[in-house]
Amino acid sequence: MPIRLLDPEVAQKIAAGEVVERPSSAVKELVENALDAGARQVQVEIRSGGLGLIRVTDDGSGIPAAEVELAFLRHATSKLSSAADLTSIQTLGFRGEALASVAAVSRITLYTHHADDDLGVTLTLEAGQVVERKPWAGPIGTAILVRNLFFNVPARLKFLRSAAGEAGQIGHVIEQFALGHPDVRFRFVNEGRRVLETPGSGDLRDALRQVYGSEIADAMVAIDDTSESSHARVWGLISTPQVTRSNRSGLSFFVNRRCISNLSLGYAVEEAYRPALLPGRHPIVALHLEVPPTEVDCNVHPTKAEVRIVNERAIHGLAHRAVRAALLEVAPLPEVGAPLEPASWPNPGVGGQESGVSDDPASGRLDAWVSRQDDSGAGGSEGDTGATSPPRPLADSPTSRHPDSRPPIPDPFRPTALRPVGQVQNTYIVAEGAGGIYFIDQHTAHERILYEEIVAQRSAPNAPSQALLAPVVVQLNARQRAALTEHGAALTRLGFDVEEFGPDAFVLRAVPPRLVRADLAQALRDAADALAGDALAPDGTDRLAATLACHSAVRAGDSLTPTEIATLLARLEETDVSRYCPHGRPVVVHLSVSQLERDFHRR
Ligand code: ADP
Ligand code: MG
Repeated sequence: MPIRLLDPEVAQKIAAGEVVERPSSAVKELVENALDAGARQVQVEIRSGGLGLIRVTDDGSGIPAAEVELAFLRHATSKLSSAADLTSIQTLGFRGEALASVAAVSRITLYTHHADDDLGVTLTLEAGQVVERKPWAGPIGTAILVRNLFFNVPARLKFLRSAAGEAGQIGHVIEQFALGHPDVRFRFVNEGRRVLETPGSGDLRDALRQVYGSEIADAMVAIDDTSESSHARVWGLISTPQVTRSNRSGLSFFVNRRCISNLSLGYAVEEAYRPALLPGRHPIVALHLEVPPTEVDCNVHPTKAEVRIVNERAIHGLAHRAVRAALLEVAPLPEVGAPLEPASWPNPGVGGQESGVSDDPASGRLDAWVSRQDDSGAGGSEGDTGATSPPRPLADSPTSRHPDSRPPIPDPFRPTALRPVGQVQNTYIVAEGAGGIYFIDQHTAHERILYEEIVAQRSAPNAPSQALLAPVVVQLNARQRAALTEHGAALTRLGFDVEEFGPDAFVLRAVPPRLVRADLAQALRDAADALAGDALAPDGTDRLAATLACHSAVRAGDSLTPTEIATLLARLEETDVSRYCPHGRPVVVHLSVSQLERDFHRR
């Protein structure tokens, strides 16, 4: 084909793809416009995950009647006039592309009334072309209705999630706006039902309460710190290390109220929680950075999701210190003395290969037998449910046999014929076996065993289920609710009976028997988080199974009876933990007899 200029319609569609990737990106752009127009109230209504209808209504300035057609042209904006303005952007929008992009791939009706005009105007467009214009006698402000998004881009429709999934994503976007603008009242209505409504009181905690529920919001800690030298202020609310989630969806960062995703800022903040945060757990944080607009470059990403900041490292340092100082004030962090680094364990599998667990028993060190501890799925979470709960019964479910179990290979690191010696610190089990002495982390070991069982049981019909004496009502955020609506069947298969309950909660009526004594609210929230993310963690572990295993397992600090210890050991012997790619925390640490002999100079 010869080279030629694309006709404008094709070029528009291509450009639109950059800005409106999915319904939530259209919502994001429309809400940004409302906020830029000074709105104090913004309402978003959607149908069919935003594909059927998106309606954004605001009480902002309105668009002058003389400019409504202009607003839909690409690179038409009232927010910039010269390239120099780009260096000090104070509005959320500035590219002049959003309305043109959304219009190119949908049917739009705009209603707007600017304060300086006697009468408002309504404009209808189809695939970017104006089809009707009429006067409109409505209040000052703007409402934009977007119908049939992507009706003329069938390829895009194929890549979207289900309506519930897209609605969940939109809910997440609006939650971020609410946290970024606590002074604005947001209301989100999905299929005629109110999903989120913030008071617009100006208090971040009030907005957080609507997003995460009162229990979490009231327990969060305020931070506020400034650095003269880097002209920056950091303020916001952070959770204590006891309130955590199994993924990073609770981390929200705003630079001059613009929600941004910034990995290194996330690391800086999470680092401040160490060592109080368990592996695989993440805090809830709503953090605002305020810096002079001249020190931010917002024009580095088509959807403005990233920004560059002068002095970025210094400002991340400020955020780190502020979070750490606040945490130290509420509770001194436990200092962990020289922990074993996973990479330094003498384990051939740590490079990522399947481990044969074939360390030389005479290598002169404790040999770690490492099982996976996935980064975002299960995680040990004894921190958040308290070590005071009674131990989970260990013998409550049938032990799974693996159909693919291979003939046992004699292996000094495999704990066989284990004889319990005792429990140390209510956390570790000490046992003697054929290959020497084994130290077993009771939580990690039980978690690993249960994970195997859950995965094996999933394919079996009629998972055991135990009705709860009193149903448990669990408040969930929009993303979690969307995940349960969409993937609830996965939980039913595992023995849950869970159902929508009011606008922002679900009710649990039955759970798998092994979960009965867990913190059910937290378990359901984590399960919903697991369902909302990818099904598999990067290392191939099933996130949902890992989450449930973690919640069902005995905790560190649970004192176990001799029978419970014996049961755990017997089941551990049957579980082929070694076939997992070893990374994260060890299940078993082994001390060989020859090592003991050497240490006591018997050899
Ligand atoms: P940008 O936001 O980058 O300027 P958009 O395409 O999103 O570009 O919008 C174009 C223009 O339309 C804006 O600059 C603004 O003047 C006007 N506009 C859009 N939405 C609204 C609204 N809700 N209220 C007032 N003006 C609006
Ligand atoms: Mg805009």
